[in-house]
Amino acid sequence: MMRLPKMDYAAPPTLSEVCVLMSEQQEKAELLAGGTDLLPACKLRNKQPTLLVSLGKIPSLKDIRFDESEGLRIGAMTSLNALRYDPLAIAHYPALIEAAAAVGTTQLQHMGTLGGNICLDTRCTYYNQSESWRQTRAVCLKMGGEVCHVVPKGNKCYAVFSGDMAPVLLALDARLKLASSAGERSLRLSEFYSGDGRKPLLIRPGEILEAVIVPPPAGKESSAYLKYRVRGAIDFPLAGVAVRLAATADGLCRDCSVAITAVSSAPVQVPEAADLLKGKSVTAELINKAAQETSRAAHPVANAFGATPSYRRKMIGILTRRTLTSLAQNLGMAVR
Ligand SMILES: Cc1cc2nc3c(=O)[nH]c(=O)nc-3n(C[C@H](O)[C@H](O)[C@H](O)COP(=O)(O)OP(=O)(O)OC[C@H]3O[C@@H](n4cnc5c(N)ncnc54)[C@H](O)[C@@H]3O)c2cc1C
Ligand code: SF4
Repeated sequence: MMRLPKMDYAAPPTLSEVCVLMSEQQEKAELLAGGTDLLPACKLRNKQPTLLVSLGKIPSLKDIRFDESEGLRIGAMTSLNALRYDPLAIAHYPALIEAAAAVGTTQLQHMGTLGGNICLDTRCTYYNQSESWRQTRAVCLKMGGEVCHVVPKGNKCYAVFSGDMAPVLLALDARLKLASSAGERSLRLSEFYSGDGRKPLLIRPGEILEAVIVPPPAGKESSAYLKYRVRGAIDFPLAGVAVRLAATADGLCRDCSVAITAVSSAPVQVPEAADLLKGKSVTAELINKAAQETSRAAHPVANAFGATPSYRRKMIGILTRRTLTSLAQNLGMAVR
């Protein structure tokens, strides 16, 4: 059995106290939300903080509220289970519910939070291993070494971002509210990921994700998320596609947004696919073209168990076709 190393623990009752502590401790401390990703990483010695700073004592971080002009504001410590059954989210953002319900298992959804899911570390078969396993080969780039075992001639880390919530929030054009001892800032989720497997988040040292804000739906629109994984009951995605589709009164595509996950070091939007549909009548031919574009935007490499990169890429196209077709039908758009 792998044990946690000895670490100090703090659970300040206010966000400002967390900010002060994080700015004092910098890299020595890690924020603890549900711990479902961080604690296994500490057991594997992928991460070795000396202090865990829990966000669990700050009730305001669990708030969910909806406002006609701002949209849905979700506190970062909202559990995925709470989000999954939230009536406001169910009423306005079906893809959020589908993604929350697709994360790991029920137990993980109870413990895991939205903030932790957005701030998930990237994964790789050569990284998510015990220290003794990793010691059998050269230290790779993500652990501070100079080689990559997946792309030996490359000079970057290709560890994969495997979160289910981020693609949906990208398709919904969500914004993040971040807090630190230097003040608050807000940025679009699309500006939050670096694309570098080594350090996947563009979060500043000492910063805390406070809330996620999803714009209100405009008119007749809907969203959907589909994921491919090996075991439906537990696994991380090997490919995931989120789509938001909006219709005009006469059944044309008014707006569209497509985002994918688990096929590169960041979740990414695919405007090339979405733009094909905007202002048009959604035909099967256009959906197929959008699926091809989405598949082209996926760049999986051989660092996840369960499927080859080419199969994952193919699945991105298939999932895009399925999400677009069902959304168009649900919105009453004739797909010919
Ligand atoms: C067996 C298994 C299966 C899983 N399957 C899936 C899956 O299918 N899909 C999926 O998306 N995930 C999956 N996960 C990963 C994880 O359970 C979820 O992503 C979960 O939502 C993470 O949230 P958490 O609150 O537990 O995060 P934590 O583990 O507490 O934190 C994760 C990271 O985020 C940082 N962090 C947390 N909150 C904040 C904040 N507010 N501000 C700044 N940084 C923060 C932490 O410091 C840490 O680095 C799985 C995990 C396991 C063990
Ligand atoms: S992709 Fe390469 S550098 Fe990154 S974790 Fe895997 S082996 Fe290490």
